[in-house]
Amino acid sequence: MDLDHFKIINDSLGHNIGDLLLKEVANRLTKQIRNEDTASRLGGDEFVVLFSELSGDPQLAAQQAQQGAHKILKTLSQPYTISSNMLHITPSIGIVIFPMNDENADDILKFADTAMYRAKDAGRNTIRFFLPGMEQAAEAQLRLQNDLRLAIRNNQLALYFQPQVNIEGHLLCAEALLRWSHPEQGMIEPNTIIPAAEESGQILQISEWVLKQALAQSKTWMNESTNLQRIAINISSVHFHQVGFAYQVKRILQETSVNPNRLTLEIHENTLADNLEEAKEKILALKRLGVRFCIDSFGVGYASIAYLRRLPMDELKIDRSFVRDIESDPKDAQLVQTIITMAHLMEIEVIAIGVETEAQLQFLRDKGCKMFQGYYFNHPLPADQFESLLKKQFA
Ligand SMILES: [Mg+2]
Repeated sequence: MDLDHFKIINDSLGHNIGDLLLKEVANRLTKQIRNEDTASRLGGDEFVVLFSELSGDPQLAAQQAQQGAHKILKTLSQPYTISSNMLHITPSIGIVIFPMNDENADDILKFADTAMYRAKDAGRNTIRFFLPGMEQAAEAQLRLQNDLRLAIRNNQLALYFQPQVNIEGHLLCAEALLRWSHPEQGMIEPNTIIPAAEESGQILQISEWVLKQALAQSKTWMNESTNLQRIAINISSVHFHQVGFAYQVKRILQETSVNPNRLTLEIHENTLADNLEEAKEKILALKRLGVRFCIDSFGVGYASIAYLRRLPMDELKIDRSFVRDIESDPKDAQLVQTIITMAHLMEIEVIAIGVETEAQLQFLRDKGCKMFQGYYFNHPLPADQFESLLKKQFA
């Protein structure tokens, strides 16, 4: 970050005033950043801020950095009163997100400098990224978050239901999957919606909507005329770690009068990594009601086996990346076999997801897997189509 036309202040009002202004800039900068960030002055009117612990997703990290930079830009652009002089100054900010490859500290500062000169070229009092396209990406992400605020109110969210079938091909369970019908971008999937919702603070509202909607909807299906046993709902890490999470699930189960043993909550391994004791408490509280728990995408997160040993999980889902390659990659085939054997020894049910071919199904069946989900059977379906399928099966 460099102050625009700072030299004019030094030249016209003297270095004393210039120095006091730099101090005040440093003051405002320090107040603006989070505890985990670092602000420093390199020399002259050049400052560097290090934002740490941004998202691992480069696009989200870019957006977080941009938001932080915007705040700095705004604070520093407010008028200053220095020795009864009213002064205005604006910064030009260059952003580099790292690590990219194996650049060192000097490289990173050089890249940030390049970006900062781009901000100067663009007319000063603005922000530029080192990588072209990052501004657009960050802005697109921000727009998406703003649009998401209207999604619930404008009825743009919907649930799709993907069948889970047993070894005879009977549809017994379904996973509820969030879809956002965006007015311009078309159908948006959870891997885009959830990070945007977590970033914008919408995640709790959306999670509550999903729980209510999925339970109320599946309640109408779980009766004598279908064989639907359970509904599986994905729980985001941010939602799971909320203080009132277990209580909220219990409340929504009561409101929708769904029997808790009809509900499976799917959580990712990484959700458990944050605080195993807290996770265990929440899981046990809900399991006492009868709710089932499933580790989603097993094998792609951290320390999976320890979780299975320490947490009373009911199911695990073998990640689609292993299933995809079981025919071509002997190591993946071996791994899938090992996961199934291990899970069964621990009395954990195994669901294979991403099943797309007869050969994959055959392999999984031979190894003892008994539940399947994937395009080989069905894509996720809108509620009405899922209902037709349920009825057709029973007819
Ligand atoms: Mg899932």
